[in-house]
Amino acid sequence: MKRILIALGGNALGNTPEEQLLLADKTAKALIPLVSEGNELIITHGNGPQVGMINLAFESASVPKMPFPECNALSEGYIGYHLQNALGNELKKYHLKKEVVTIITQVEVNPDDPAFFNPTKPIGSFYSEQEAKLIEKERGYLMREDSGRGYRRVIASPKPINILEAESIKTLVEAGQIVIACGGGGIPVVKKEGRFYGIDAVIDKDYASSLLAGILQADYFFILTAVDKVAINFGQEDQRNLDIINFEDAKKYLQEGHFKKGSMLPKVEAALSFLEVNPKGVAVIASLEKATEALIGEAGTRIIK
Ligand code: ADP
Ligand code: MG
Repeated sequence: MKRILIALGGNALGNTPEEQLLLADKTAKALIPLVSEGNELIITHGNGPQVGMINLAFESASVPKMPFPECNALSEGYIGYHLQNALGNELKKYHLKKEVVTIITQVEVNPDDPAFFNPTKPIGSFYSEQEAKLIEKERGYLMREDSGRGYRRVIASPKPINILEAESIKTLVEAGQIVIACGGGGIPVVKKEGRFYGIDAVIDKDYASSLLAGILQADYFFILTAVDKVAINFGQEDQRNLDIINFEDAKKYLQEGHFKKGSMLPKVEAALSFLEVNPKGVAVIASLEKATEALIGEAGTRIIK
């Protein structure tokens, strides 16, 4: 029996509720073999499209504005429901006696994280320069031009330092339940005078998942995404897909700039920080379809210390 933390990419979940339910079903089907082999499963996921949709809905409706941490909390429930439903149905089909539960997760970030002084993550809708200036004045948001498509709000993407519900997650995993946690990287909170407060930020789900995998001493940390393998010279003629990378080589490739910021870079960094905490662990970056083969080293890219 292995303890496996699986981080699902945002692309694994689609853009509409209908699409998401279908994709959750596909995800559940792909993960069932891992469960039937007797492994413990913890699932984390991204929420880029979902939290964007929720935020936009509140921005454009005549209802009170919904702060960003609350939007993240809503997305955790919405995605958690679909995953619970899909996994629950598949488990029943195969007579596997397992419970699935979603934990609304708060993740602590440092209010002095340099990311807060240089917000870079664009969220929500696009505005003209004029509208953007007005929004900056009225709501105090930071608005930036986004690749020639118009102005968008940008918020900080600080590093996760602590998972508030870690003990609950651990207790449920040890009781044999499948736990869905840290959705969208978790709800960002900061500590002030001994209390936690939600803060406008987006935590990268790869970093939050790595932190959780380390806390739970997972044997495997799977990052499932759109590609089957990590490559060097990605997108170039001499692209080389990698089956296995050791810690030192992964670091070297990082420094040489083989992994794109905001996509593959955080995944490789997340894998390395997991291995620092659990040197005996195995980090795997693979596609959802090949998750089962990746567990036995027949697909994906393994990163080991
Ligand atoms: P997710 O939603 O799963 O987090 P991302 O789009 O953030 O997915 O990251 C996965 C993407 O990273 C791949 O689809 C691929 O286009 C891109 N990528 C960037 N650099 C590399 C690389 N060196 N090797 C493989 N994929 C890479
Ligand atoms: Mg990503």
